[in-house]
Amino acid sequence: MRLSRAVPPVAVTTGLVLTVIGLSGAGTAAHAAGGAGHYTLTKAADAFTNTTKVVRWAPCTRIAGVTRTHVIRYRINPAGQRGRVTLVQRAVAKLTAASGLTFHYVGTTSYIPHFDSHGFLAAAQQQRVTGVPFVIGWAFEGSGARHSNLLTGTEAGVGTISWKSSSVSQLRIVAGAVVIKRGGTAALKPGFQAGGSIGTLLLHELGHAVGLQHVYTDIGQVMYPIIGPGSPAGYAAGDRAGLAKVGRPAGCMTTPSSPI
Ligand SMILES: [Zn+2]
Repeated sequence: MRLSRAVPPVAVTTGLVLTVIGLSGAGTAAHAAGGAGHYTLTKAADAFTNTTKVVRWAPCTRIAGVTRTHVIRYRINPAGQRGRVTLVQRAVAKLTAASGLTFHYVGTTSYIPHFDSHGFLAAAQQQRVTGVPFVIGWAFEGSGARHSNLLTGTEAGVGTISWKSSSVSQLRIVAGAVVIKRGGTAALKPGFQAGGSIGTLLLHELGHAVGLQHVYTDIGQVMYPIIGPGSPAGYAAGDRAGLAKVGRPAGCMTTPSSPI
């Protein structure tokens, strides 16, 4: 996991958390204490309140007495395999069910999320090129066409977010990306199965893309950093408790979003 943050000289904070996941072919010691306390949130300085807040998407806004659901539009880069579109949509449906966040699939893209030259998610470029704040795709590790420099080393996937706040806008995620490594998931089972599946890997990276971080003490949670024989098929109790903290149960934002 890498965690970095940049604070511009004006009253705006921008952050990025990059979280990565490794694949293990071997069984990992289980510390499956279970329980709803097993989640880790991302927290950051909020320039609107001058306090530390949980980093999350706006599930909705409530401004001047009007409540509106915030729709997080997303695209998928399936790298030529149409079945991945369906797989991602199924994963996002599970994320929606657990978090109350609202997502809307608007189509495929050839765009591959990546770091800019400063080591931050190229969020503004991603928004400009794709027209959406959230992209989920497949890529090879590295740089150049069909590659993503978000992927490094042994990780099978990466989930990353960029957030922002200002004196007039509460802290919130403004961009997200999930990249699954092409050629890096051969050890995983298809679909959504317990014991290490591509579906669980997607749920893990989607968890990062809504602000969850790793849980190191409970192999029975999707947010444990290794997807393998001890992994659940879907979000477990701790995951769900965390997703509620970053989802609609956490309440609407009362300020408009800043531009990316
Ligand atoms: Zn991870």
